[in-house]
Amino acid sequence: MTDTLQLAGIQPMSSVDWPGKLVATVFAQGCPWACGYCHNHAIIDCQTPGILPWEEVVALMKRRHGLLDGIVFSGGEATRQPALLDAAREIKDMGFEVGLHTAGPYPRALQHLLDAGLIDWVGMDIKATPNNYPAVVGRPNSGEKAWKSLQILLDYAQRHPDFDYEIRLTAFPSSPGDELEVARGCRDAGAKTFALQQARQLGAPEGFEAQAIGWEDQFDALARDIKNLGFERLIVRRA
Ligand code: SF4
Repeated sequence: MTDTLQLAGIQPMSSVDWPGKLVATVFAQGCPWACGYCHNHAIIDCQTPGILPWEEVVALMKRRHGLLDGIVFSGGEATRQPALLDAAREIKDMGFEVGLHTAGPYPRALQHLLDAGLIDWVGMDIKATPNNYPAVVGRPNSGEKAWKSLQILLDYAQRHPDFDYEIRLTAFPSSPGDELEVARGCRDAGAKTFALQQARQLGAPEGFEAQAIGWEDQFDALARDIKNLGFERLIVRRA
């Protein structure tokens, strides 16, 4: 089934896409959402065909045995594509670890991937409180899906102590202003590792503004407030 994968490209070596690991990052074409700050805006159209054959990814990973820890499926939204299951299995069978970036729009697909034991680490974006999701991602009914995926991930993590994850919130000047509430909701749902990150200008759609007067101070204050929530691990990433 991997021949149906729509892949937009690959970063052959990355030390930032899975903190602490050296990986190749594969970018899946297409995402059902349309966030105003999406830094991979150019690859979210689901109708655009893939340009990277899966065989090339496999060939690269064969050459990188001993050099890379694994692969990260990023996007776009990789869980949109049913063939991800077979692709992740093939990479695992080669002896690599598999990481996943997801915003959680497909809770059932995420559940299947986790239950199949194919994913070793997840970086999950939680973007807003459930009611504010449509304002951030531009689609209705998005909040329930993302927060359901969060619960699936955290339940899985609780049952699998070796599994690792990071919950990520991207802050930006024109957000609904619910960042602290989002962080609190994630903590109350059981998240131990939380990353607060600033949206970047690079790659974002036209019209998006990553900066505003007073934004750096606002972001610092937000980081301090979130620190007080007492996550076991808090990461703050500035643009
Ligand atoms: S969910 Fe992620 S890939 Fe999709 S539009 Fe939003 S930021 Fe971009």
